[in-house]
Parts: sequence; C-alpha cells; structure tokens
Amino acid sequence: MAGIYFHIPFCRQRCHYCDFYTTTQLNKKQELILALQKELLLRKSELAHDEIQTIYFGGGTPSLLNKNEICLFIESVKEHFQVSKNAEITLEANPDDLTTIYLNELASSPVNRLSVGIQSFHDADLKLTNRRHSAEQALQCIKMAQEKGFHNISIDLIYGLPNSSLEKWNQNLEITKDLHVQHLSAYHLTYEKGTVFDIWNQKKKIIPISDEESILQFQTLVEWAVKNNFIHYEISNFAVPDYLSQHNTSYWQQKKYMGLGPSAHSYNRDSRSWNVSNLPQYLAALSKDELPSECEWLTETDKFNDFIITSLRTRWGISLEKVQQQFGTDVRESLVSKVRPFIDNKKIYEKDGCLVLTNEGVFLSDMILAELIKIEDD
Ligand code: SF4
Repeated sequence: MAGIYFHIPFCRQRCHYCDFYTTTQLNKKQELILALQKELLLRKSELAHDEIQTIYFGGGTPSLLNKNEICLFIESVKEHFQVSKNAEITLEANPDDLTTIYLNELASSPVNRLSVGIQSFHDADLKLTNRRHSAEQALQCIKMAQEKGFHNISIDLIYGLPNSSLEKWNQNLEITKDLHVQHLSAYHLTYEKGTVFDIWNQKKKIIPISDEESILQFQTLVEWAVKNNFIHYEISNFAVPDYLSQHNTSYWQQKKYMGLGPSAHSYNRDSRSWNVSNLPQYLAALSKDELPSECEWLTETDKFNDFIITSLRTRWGISLEKVQQQFGTDVRESLVSKVRPFIDNKKIYEKDGCLVLTNEGVFLSDMILAELIKIEDD
C-alpha cells in the first residue's frame, strides 16, 4: 500500500503564518503540469509493486487546478500504477475557490475528499492572517460542497492566534460541529522563521498568547472532540468514525509515499528524498529529464527515530512489540527505561502494549521525543 502526493505550489497571496514552499508565479501553471507528468513517468518504477491507496493534491493551492487538470493527473496515476478501487483522492481547497461552478465540476471528478483551509470563522482572524476568504465564504463553501454530494470533508482550523480567546475558539468549534464535517485538522499557531508573523512577533506588533491560554484552548478542543464523537487520532487530527485521513495516517504508519512537485518529500522505508524547493529549478531539471531531488539512505537509528516520532503522534502510540520485532530486545528495553519517568509523571500511559501520550504529554511532545529518540548508531 502506498500514496502519491502532488504539490501544487501556487498561492494567490501569502498567509502571514505560512512557511510552506509556495510561489505566486501562477503563469507557470502549464509548465508545472507538464513537469509533474514527466516526474510521474520518470519515477513510476518506484511504486511498481505497490497498490496506490491514496492520491493527495496539496499545496500551495491545488484548487487553482481546473477539473480537467486534476483528472489528467488522476488518469496518469491510474495508467502507470495499480490504484485501489476505493482509493481516497483528496483535494486541498481554499474556500474562495469553491464556487458553485467549481464544485459542480469537482463533483463529477474522481476527487472524493475535500480538505478545506478555513482556519477561522472570524473575519478579524482571517484578516490578521492574510487569508483570501471571509467567514461567510467559509460557511457557504462547506454547505455547497455537501449539497453537491461531498460527504468526506475535512476543515483546517488554527488556534493559539494572537488576540484569540477561549470564547472565540469555542465559537469556531461550535460552528464546526454544526457544519457536520467528518474531519478536523486543528493546528496551534507556530511562529515559523521568516514569516510575517515571526517578524511582527519580534517587533512586538503582535503578542503571542500565554502557555496557559494555549493549554486551555487545546483542552477545549480535546473535550469538544469527545463530546461530539470525534476520534482524536493524531496530535492535530480528529475524525468521526470511518473518516480518518487514510493519506496522512499512512505517513504515521510508515507506509511508502511518493511526493511529486517542488519541495515534495518521498519515503520508502529505506530512504527518503526531497525535491528542490524552487519552481524554476524544478522546471529546468525536468525539462532535461532530470530529477531535481536529493536522497538520504536511512540508518537503523534513522528508522528507529522515524518510527518513534511518527508513532507517538498517534492515538495508537508506540507498539513495543513492533519495536522488538524491528529493532531488537536491547532497543526495546532501552526505550522502556527511558519512558518510565514519563509514565510516572503521567505524560505517557501504556495501553495494550503501546505507549501513548496523555493530553498533558501532547503539549510536551517535542521534549519527550527528544528524550526517546537515539542520537547516533549504537
Ligand atoms: S494558502 Fe495555504 S499554502 Fe498558500 S500561503 Fe496560505 S497557508 Fe500557505
């Protein structure tokens, strides 16, 4: 089982918190489409023996692709790979792109899951973060998508914004509940280096909320999920039963994926690779039939660390049996002894032979992971 990811790096404008590789050179769209097709062909042997379970259009703004362009990619994948009959095919979309006309087109395409970047239902937050859409557009696009027959919809929300309050965050969650979406990705704002928010923060133009307020907002989110039958299956991800994101879950379960497009990452259990984060360089390389990527072979330490980092993020946690099978008894015993203090102070609990973060532990996950991973090969 494997997944294929297409990175569509175009954005009409840049959000103030975002550090993804994106570009506003929309005039390069046709060149990118040709280059992505070529990259897919050049790399088709990489997943020749795997069934493709998920196809994901991420960005950037994949909703800048029209239906024909999206279908072209899906057809190419079907032509060159073995695609599962009920493959999950996700399109990330911005609310202002989801017009009635566009949704009509998408509804007659193989796309069967939408991931909508709403971020907040408050206009003041949307303005502060430099989003293109309004709160009203966010509400309407979800309702229209449902009317057009989309019943696997995820939305993204950001909490911990400057000027945010528990009351405003609660309102966002209540609106989410009333929209009857199947999936929520809720991320705490981080001040990524070089973003407008990072610069404003340094200049004290915005004031980050306190740690106490952050924890309260997170607790509110977790309680909301329990109350509304959403499974908290990864630190930032929540879904009603049967609607967990298959694509993202495959990342956390160490399944193979192939990322296409500028800045996209790939993983095959033995190595990981990443494409150049530069559209002109990406296009130039593909025009010469060259792959613009770097590759790193994974040592046993890398594999162990990847396993720990991805597993601990999820509700299934770290399976001690798998640690034993994949890395041996000594590694398992070393892990168990490192975890003991976190179990004693209730940051991690053990369930059915798996180590799982408590809600308190989630907020300290970076520190805990730093203690659990290995620094170098033994
Ligand atoms: S639309 Fe998405 S990818 Fe583009 S700048 Fe905003 S957050 Fe980043």
